[in-house]
Amino acid sequence: ANHHYTLGIDFGTSGARAVVIDCTGVTQAEAKYAVTDDAFTQVITWENTLFNLIEQIPPRLRQQIDAIAIDGTSSTVLLCNATGTPVAPPLMYNDARGVTVLEQLKAIAPPNHTVLSATSSLAKLLWLSQQPTFADAKYFLHQADWLAFLLHGKLGISDYHNALKLGYDVEHFCYPAWLTKLAIAPLLPQILAPGTPVAEVTPEVATRFNLRRDCYVCAGTTDSIAAFLASGATSPGEAVTSLGSTMVLKLLSHTRVENSQYGIYSHRLGDLWLTGGASNTGGAVLQQFFSNAELQQLSLQIDPQQVSPFDYYPLLQPGDRFPVNDPHLLPRLEPRPDNSVEFLHGILESIARIECQGYQLLQQLGATSLIHIYTAGGGAVNTSWTAIRQRYFDLPIVASKDTEAAYGSALLAMRSINSNRN
Ligand code: ADP
Repeated sequence: ANHHYTLGIDFGTSGARAVVIDCTGVTQAEAKYAVTDDAFTQVITWENTLFNLIEQIPPRLRQQIDAIAIDGTSSTVLLCNATGTPVAPPLMYNDARGVTVLEQLKAIAPPNHTVLSATSSLAKLLWLSQQPTFADAKYFLHQADWLAFLLHGKLGISDYHNALKLGYDVEHFCYPAWLTKLAIAPLLPQILAPGTPVAEVTPEVATRFNLRRDCYVCAGTTDSIAAFLASGATSPGEAVTSLGSTMVLKLLSHTRVENSQYGIYSHRLGDLWLTGGASNTGGAVLQQFFSNAELQQLSLQIDPQQVSPFDYYPLLQPGDRFPVNDPHLLPRLEPRPDNSVEFLHGILESIARIECQGYQLLQQLGATSLIHIYTAGGGAVNTSWTAIRQRYFDLPIVASKDTEAAYGSALLAMRSINSNRN
C-alpha cells in the first residue's frame, strides 16, 4: 500500500480552505480561514492566509504531503516584478475597470471571444499596461499562480484553466498570433496542464512549515473547476448542477461547445471538455421569500411526485442569458398561491424545468449526452427538490461526493502523483 497524501488549497470569493486527502480520496485534515472581501484585495492577506492554512494542518500530516495544488478565483490577477513582488494591488475577479479597453480589445481579438469582457484577465492586463506602475512589471499572474510561486519560487507559470480568459488557445496549446504580437506578450505566463508538477517547495518553505523537501507544487486551476473536480464526476456525460445563489450547469463532454449568445464555453479537462452555462435563477430567489429553516420545513410538506401547476421563471431582476438568452426577461412568479408550500413547490419545479432546458440546450449544441447528475450548492440537501428534479431526468441524480474546491485541488494533486508513477 502507498501512503501518499496531497494538499489542496482553495482561494475562493468568500475565504480560503485547505484539505489534505490520502490516496483513496479520504479527507485527513481540513483548515479554513475566513477573510473579509476588503482584506482579500491585498496580497499580504493572500500570503498570510496561505501560510496560516498550512500551519493549521497537523505537523505529522504535513510531513507526509507529496504534492500540493492551489486553485484561485478565476480572473483575479496581478502584475509583479522580476522577484515576484507585486507592483500594484491585484485586480479582483469582478473588477470591471477593463471596460475602458474593451473597444481596443474588440479590434484585436476574434469576434465573440471569451476575452471580450470587462472583467477578463486579458482586459485587466491591457488596462494595467496603461498604468504608470506597468514600467516595473515583469510577470502577469493569476491569483493561483502567485500563491504557488510563494511555495515553489517559480515565476511566469500558469495553467490553461486560469489562462482561458487570458486568451490562451486550449485547443492548440499556444497563445494565438493576435495575442503574441501585442506589446504585453513578454509578460504572458508559460501555460501548463492543470496538475502538472512545477517544482518542489523551496528549502525555506520546507523548513518553515515542516514540509518534505521533495514535496512538489503542481500547476493549479480555478475555484469553480476545482469545485467541479470535487464532485466526483470524471466521465463524459457526467454533470454537476450547482444550486447556489444562482444555478450553474457543467457537463463533461467529448466535444467542445462554445456559444457566446448563451454564455456557453468550454474548459479543457484532459482529453475532455467541461462545458457549461450559468443561469440567474436559483437560491437567491428562494431567499427572497423563505428563511433556510422555512425552506427545510415547507419542502418536507411538498409531494414531489405531484406536478406543480405553476410555470415560473424565478429571477431577482430582469434578464437571463442561459438557457434563455433575453437581457430583458422579466421575473415570473405569478400567480402566487396563498399556500406557501404550493408556492415553494412551484418555484422548485420551475427551477428544475429551467435546469432540464439548460442541459437540453448544451446537448443540442453538440455536448455529449447526459448520463448522470451530481448536485452541489445549498439546494443539494433538499431531498424534495431532488425528487422533483428526478421527474425531469431519467438518470441518476446524486449529491456531489464533496463540494469543497480545496478537495478538488487535492484530487488534482493526487492524480498528478498517480500519473507520474505510471
Ligand atoms: P452560493 O452560490 O452563494 O455559494 P450556496 O451554495 O451556499 O450559495 O447556497 C445558498 C443557497 O442555497 C441560498 O440561496 C438558499 O436559498 C439555498 N438553500 C439553502 N437551503 C436550502 C434548502 N433547504 N432548499 C433549497 N435551497 C436552499
